[in-house]
This record gives sequence, structure tokens and C-alpha cells, in this order.
Amino acid sequence: MIRLNDFGAQWREVGDAVLTATDRVGKSGQYILGAEVVTLEKRLAIFWGRLHSVGCASGLDALEICLRALGLRPGQKVLTTPLSAFATTLAIIRAGGVPVFVDVDGSGLIDLDQAEEAFDTDQELRFFVPVHLYGNAINLERLAKLRDRFNIKIIEDCAQAIGASWCNIPVGSVGSMAATSFYPTKNLGCMGDGGAVFTDDEDLARLAKSLRNYGQSSKYVHEYLGLNSRLDELQAAIINEAFLPHIERTTARRRAIAQMYSSHITTPSLTLPTVSIDSNSVWHLYPLLVKKERQRFQDFLALHNVDTGFHYPKLIPEQTALLGKSFFVIGDLPNARLFTETQISIPIHPYLTDDEVSYVIDTCNRWCD
Ligand SMILES: *Cc1c(COP(=O)(O)O)cnc(C)c1O
Repeated sequence: MIRLNDFGAQWREVGDAVLTATDRVGKSGQYILGAEVVTLEKRLAIFWGRLHSVGCASGLDALEICLRALGLRPGQKVLTTPLSAFATTLAIIRAGGVPVFVDVDGSGLIDLDQAEEAFDTDQELRFFVPVHLYGNAINLERLAKLRDRFNIKIIEDCAQAIGASWCNIPVGSVGSMAATSFYPTKNLGCMGDGGAVFTDDEDLARLAKSLRNYGQSSKYVHEYLGLNSRLDELQAAIINEAFLPHIERTTARRRAIAQMYSSHITTPSLTLPTVSIDSNSVWHLYPLLVKKERQRFQDFLALHNVDTGFHYPKLIPEQTALLGKSFFVIGDLPNARLFTETQISIPIHPYLTDDEVSYVIDTCNRWCD
């Protein structure tokens, strides 16, 4: 089976480094917020090109901490996308916000024309959580213009886009804050849950550090009602030792595979992902659109031992958990709906061999609807 994520292959490559990291933490006797977390935060900030990074327990928490640090008040509206991991919206609701959904464009990223119109018509809309979906950077020059024109607070959801950029502007550098996830399937994963917050603002970084640790400003002094959202020392050590040192190589491999797919998948039954030439995607996923009969295509690939996924099969505002909750939907979301009905992700993890990539290409090209 060619899997969407191959943790067996990953372990063969990083296992020794993980054991080294584990040994180091074990011997240190420091399991929470020790030297490894501090080192990782420094390295991540440098890698990301921002002044501060704050480790936390998940991508979901990272987003919630950003929203709370930026002063989101209960009942305030937050513009976001209906096509993402549910965590993007869940964080907004947990922080007390009211999500406002606008449609995506043809690449599945939030439509910035519609976002602009929403900010123009609704003065109550002061927060924006855009998602760099599938590893693909949204137009950061336009995002910066929206930020400046409407004076809005932007939190970039970079969980799928570690290392991506738009015209050499890195994702996460336009918003006041950015959040990412180290969930194992992410481009920079760990071996459990983890996440991080990024900002250039020292006060916001201090606030995020307080919020992740019960809202303490110093030991036993609680200024806020915070979370328990500390990044484990073990996970930080594993990222430091086994994953972060290879991020350039694993990203290059994802890009090479995407290149092969985009050049050689030629069947007219599939639509290849559209990525602007200005976006240097890190290809967290390789999203195809199946013109007809997606389920039959998925079954066909499964029969030929190629694992696939749908990202995402249901619009967030139509999830049961949102029933009776306060939120707004602008328009009918036709593009996002098209993705829920026709999108499919084929394997693009960095441990795929060239033979496996060729096999996936051939299998796709043998599909006719
Ligand atoms: C994975 C993901 C999250 C949530 O991260 P967790 O670490 O699983 O909480 C948020 N947003 C997006 C776009 C994601 O892909």
C-alpha cells in the first residue's frame, strides 16, 4: 500500500535520532518547559524569520492563544474559511469569537476579493484567520494591503504551510501572529501533539507564554485564565534532533514529487492543483479535483493500493457541532462546496520513492471516468 503518510519509513530514517533525543531528556530530568523547548523556540523563530516563537500543546491551542493574546472579546466576529481542518474554526469559537465564512477561490484558498468586500461592508469584522491550505501560500501582498487598509488583526494559520512563501515573503509574516501544528502528519511533525505561535511583538509573545501556562505571569501569580498548553520537552527534543534538521530536504522532496505529478498526470478526468507562480508551496497535500465520480476514483486507487483522502468532505459551517452556534455565512460557498464534492489527495510524503511516484502517476492516468 502506498500510504498518505508512511510512519514506518519515517521511523527507519529518524528512529536513532529520536532515541538520542529521548535519552537526552530522560537524563536531564526536566520534562516540562526546559532547555529543549527554549532551544526549539529559538530555532523556529530563526527558521520562520520572526522574532519570537512560543511552543504549545497543539495547533488548535496555538490559534486560540493567538486570538486571545490579540484581545478577541466574546461575541466578536472573525473572518475565516469554510474549507480547512475543523480546528481553525474550533479555535475561534473556543476563544469566544463568532466565525464568519466566505468562499474559497479555484485553488481552495480563501477568496481575498470576497474577504475584502466583507471587511468593507462590515465594520464589526476586526479579525481574520486565513489558512495557507495544502501548503500553498495565499497572496501575502494582498493580505498586507487588507491589514493596512482595514487595520484588522490577522492570525495566519500555517499548520499546513511550514516554510511556504509568496514572492519570497514567508507565510506567517503578515499577520500580527501566526500559528502552526506539529501533528505527526504535518510537514514539520513530532511524535504526538504540539504546536507553536509566532510573532514579532515581545508583549504578545509574553502573553502567549503566560496563556499556555495557566495564565501565570510568574510562579503562582495568575493574571489570566489561561490553558494548560505547554509543549512537552520530549516533543521539543524530538523536533530539535530528528525533524527540524531535515525540513529543507523533506520540503524539497515534496516539491519534487509535486513537480512529477504536475508534469505527468495527464488524464483529462482529473484537474491538477492550481498554484500561483508567486506561491512557493510546501505541498502538505497534493489536491486533485475529480471531474466525475470521485468515490469510484478513490475505490479504483484503493484497489491498486494507493491510499487517498478528502480534504475536506464537509463544509465547516455544515458540521453538526456548529448547529445552534452563532456564526455567519456570506453567499452560497459554491467553490468550497465543489472542493467538498470533488477534491482528493494523493500521497506526497517525503519518503515516497521515485518508483512509487511513477506508479501513482500511471495509476491515475489509467483512470477514465
Ligand atoms: C492540523 C491543523 C490544525 C490543528 O492542528 P492540531 O495540532 O491538530 O490541533 C489547524 N489548522 C489547520 C489548517 C490544520 O491543518
